Amino acid sequence: MTTPPPVPLDPLYALDDAILEQRIQVAKAQLGESCVILGHHYQREEVYRFADLTGDSLKLARLASQRPQARYIVFCGVHFMAEVADILSGPDQIAILPDLAAGCSMADMADLPGVSAAWRDLGRILDMERTVTPITYVNSTADLKAFCGDHGGTVCTSSNAVRILQWAFEQREKVLFFPDQHLGRNSAVGLGIPLERIVVYHPDAGPLGGLSADQVRNARVILWEGFCSVHQMFQPAHVDLFRQRVPGVRIVVHPECSLEVCQKADVLGSTEQIQAAVRAAPPGSRFAIGTELNLVNRLQKEQPDKEIHFLCPTICMCSTMFRIDLQHLCWTLENLVAGHVVNPIQVPAREAASARVALERMLAVV
Ligand code: SF4
Repeated sequence: MTTPPPVPLDPLYALDDAILEQRIQVAKAQLGESCVILGHHYQREEVYRFADLTGDSLKLARLASQRPQARYIVFCGVHFMAEVADILSGPDQIAILPDLAAGCSMADMADLPGVSAAWRDLGRILDMERTVTPITYVNSTADLKAFCGDHGGTVCTSSNAVRILQWAFEQREKVLFFPDQHLGRNSAVGLGIPLERIVVYHPDAGPLGGLSADQVRNARVILWEGFCSVHQMFQPAHVDLFRQRVPGVRIVVHPECSLEVCQKADVLGSTEQIQAAVRAAPPGSRFAIGTELNLVNRLQKEQPDKEIHFLCPTICMCSTMFRIDLQHLCWTLENLVAGHVVNPIQVPAREAASARVALERMLAVV
């Protein structure tokens, strides 16, 4: 039997959403248990609706690895998430990202050459392997996870960052944290580390990332200068505004927001923790939430007996996550039905092995 030709993407943009939805349903039914669709909380609603499993990036990758019957893991999220799915899944499973342009601007702010150069640079005055634990946020490329695996470090997520920092300090006296300075700072402050012992390494600022030798020696946590373009939109003034306008409002924010915003909030948590806080509240509760818009909109629909606001006067969405649309999902599934794997994400074996060491260290802690 000959394999049907690949399904082209462009003609799908001429179709109505209703037709695309119908075609996705048909392809999904044909693939059955051989395919699992994962949907991140920040994914647009029309795509999220087709997910078999939903959650934050790490929860999804773990869930997918528990579905060995699924040969194809279609990750409706961004690139680093599909990489983690590939690293944690079985050898016969294939992780797929429907649109390869769905990256993460924060993950792009730190790369292996840059972090390796900083490690050598700081090594001029610190004994790095003995005194510094590298920690990468899960929102990072696989080679940086591998770097952490190779240098006694680990990975963290927004839900376990404080506990992982604690673990790191049980190993060595200092931490190099990348790429998100805000998650690193919020977590370190949460552990009681004074701000003067938390410094930022600016990779483009010359020797020691613009820090003095004394600052580096005195630091407990050295942060990479990265941030999330979505969460940096939330400002302390937005918190003040909602407190004035909405009596009794509870402010709930993600730790990728700045320290100033987080310190004004009532609840600080990962996407899973934000959802849990809202769901557990009694009817009539009022919230202003500082995280990606799709998640907030979904909570509004799901919890109509609560008043839920988006903590920013402007729209801030994850534009890269938004690239996964009905057309790309339909194209991916129909090609699988036709016997063609589009956009497989495969981390090179040596890199995957070291990254798995870093991830398994994290999973052993929390
Ligand atoms: S919301 Fe921010 S950190 Fe999350 S995927 Fe988008 S750009 Fe990356």
